[in-house]
Amino acid sequence: MANSALYFRAISSPTSSNLGADALRRRLESSSWSPGPRRAGGSAIVRVRCEKKDDAFFMRRCVELARKAVGCTSPNPMVGCVVVKDGEIVGRGFHPKAGQPHAEVFALRDAGILAENATAYVSLEPCNHHGRTPPCTEALIRAKVKQVVVGMVDPNPIVASKGVDRLRDSGIDVIVGVEEMLCQKLNEAYIHRTITGRPFVTLRYTLSFNGRIMTQLGKGAEGPGGYYSQLLQEYDGILIPNDLLSKISTLPTSHEIGANQPFHIVIAKGSGYSLCLPRLTAGSAAKIIVLAERHIKVEPEVEGIEMVVLEQITLSSILDYCGRRGLCSILLDFAGGSECLSELLEDAVSEHLIQKVVMEICSFWNIGEKTSELEFSYDSLKLKNLESRISNESVLVEGYL
Ligand SMILES: [Zn+2]
Repeated sequence: MANSALYFRAISSPTSSNLGADALRRRLESSSWSPGPRRAGGSAIVRVRCEKKDDAFFMRRCVELARKAVGCTSPNPMVGCVVVKDGEIVGRGFHPKAGQPHAEVFALRDAGILAENATAYVSLEPCNHHGRTPPCTEALIRAKVKQVVVGMVDPNPIVASKGVDRLRDSGIDVIVGVEEMLCQKLNEAYIHRTITGRPFVTLRYTLSFNGRIMTQLGKGAEGPGGYYSQLLQEYDGILIPNDLLSKISTLPTSHEIGANQPFHIVIAKGSGYSLCLPRLTAGSAAKIIVLAERHIKVEPEVEGIEMVVLEQITLSSILDYCGRRGLCSILLDFAGGSECLSELLEDAVSEHLIQKVVMEICSFWNIGEKTSELEFSYDSLKLKNLESRISNESVLVEGYL
C-alpha cells in the first residue's frame, strides 16, 4: 500500500493572527499545546497522507465496501464494487447478504447513466450464471462500462474465468489481479470452502506472558471493537466442547453493532444422555447446533435448537457436517481445560484441518491452575505469513499453517 501512497506537506494558515503577544507566549510555554514542526514565519507544517488514485487505490475501496457486510454474506463471498469516471468514484456497492443483489448491481444503480464508458472495479470476478440473482456480467455489459478491473478470479467452478471471458467477448477491456492478495485474504474462508468443501478453521488461544495458555481473554477483547468480539462477528460458527459448558455463564457473543452472531456448535462427546446449556438470550436457540453421538436431552428445552447425530465425533466429521451445512468458517477456541477439545485437536494439523492461528499474548502473569497445552502429533511446524498488532493491552499474532 505504501508504494502507491504520496506524501505532501500542507502549510497551515498562521494560528497567531488573533492572539496577543502575551497570550501567544503563554500558549507556546504551555505543555498542553504543541506547535509541531515549524517553518520560518511561524506557520506549522502539517503532514497529510494522500494516496495516488490508481487501480490499486480503487480496489482497496472495493475491499473496504465489501467488509461492511462482514459476517453476513456466507456462504457467499464478501464483494465490493466501485464505478469510476474521470478519476472519481460515481457508484458504490457491496453484496449485503446471500440472496440479495451482488455488489456490481448496487454500484451500477448508484452510478446511473454515469456508468457508460466508466471503469468498474470489483474485488471478485463478476458472475456469469443465473443463481438467485441474474448474472452481473450482463448488468455490466448493459450499463456499457468500457473497462472492468477484477481483484481476483472466482475459484468457484461455475464462475472460474467465465465471467472474465464473457466481458472480454463483449468487447470490454478486463484487467485481472489488482490487489489480488488483499482480495484473497478478504475471502480466505470462502476460497477454502469452495476448493475443499470444508470450512476454514482458525485456532485461537491466549497466552500469559509467562507462557501459559489461559482460560480468560485479555482486557477489552470481548467488548465492542475488541478482537475477540470481531472474530465472533466474522466467523460462521464457533465450536464449544461440552466439558466447557459448566464453566461459562453465557455462550460467546459478538458485541459489534448489528453483528450476525455465529452458530454455536456444541460438541456433546461422551456427555451421557443429557446436556445443560448456559443461559440463552432471545433468538440464540436458532443458532445452536448440538452434535452428539446419539440423541440426547438438551436443557433448557428451547425450540429451535438443532440436534445432529454423527456416527463418530472427530474434528474431521464435525467439519464435514459444517461444510455441508453451508458454514464457511469455524473458530476453534482453545481455552485449555477441555479434554474433549484436546482430543479433537490431536490429528487436526496432520489432517490439515486447521488453516490459521490467532494467538493473543496478554500482559498477565498467570500463576493459577496449569491448563492443558496444545499437543499436535507433529514433529515440527511453522507458521507462515505472520502478522502482528497491538489490541488493547495484548499483542495479537496471526499466521497460517
Ligand atoms: Zn454477480
